[in-house]
Amino acid sequence: MEQLREFAEKYGFSEWVIISSFISMTLMCIFIVVLIVKILEPKYKMYKQDMFHGMLWKWKYKGERIIDLWCYCPTCKSMLHVDDENCKATSTLGDKTTFFICDTCNEREIGRIKGGDRRYALKVVIRAILAKIRLNTFDIYEYK
Ligand SMILES: [Zn+2]
Repeated sequence: MEQLREFAEKYGFSEWVIISSFISMTLMCIFIVVLIVKILEPKYKMYKQDMFHGMLWKWKYKGERIIDLWCYCPTCKSMLHVDDENCKATSTLGDKTTFFICDTCNEREIGRIKGGDRRYALKVVIRAILAKIRLNTFDIYEYK
């Protein structure tokens, strides 16, 4: 602090000016670091929704992993509910189907994924998302 006072006297600044400019420099550095991290972040991290099987799907990322994946009605944007009851009744994979229904649109069927129950359906969509990321064919502005 003594040196700071000497410096301040020598150049005619008040200590307060030196301290506040030091703080604003620090904030500026933090801001630049945050900006660089944002720029370096892979572009696919902005790809968080897309249409698959006639439904709007939204998700988030945790590291490289896709989390919170769920489907929405393309018309009214409500969350869809799934009906995969038939999957319990049959053991033939080809007969298993997961139906996606919008309660708001008169319980209308929005889409279906054949081959398994809801867990299977989510995996199918995750595979489709990852394929688009890998092939770089996704569009982050398509369904805004
Ligand atoms: Zn709807």
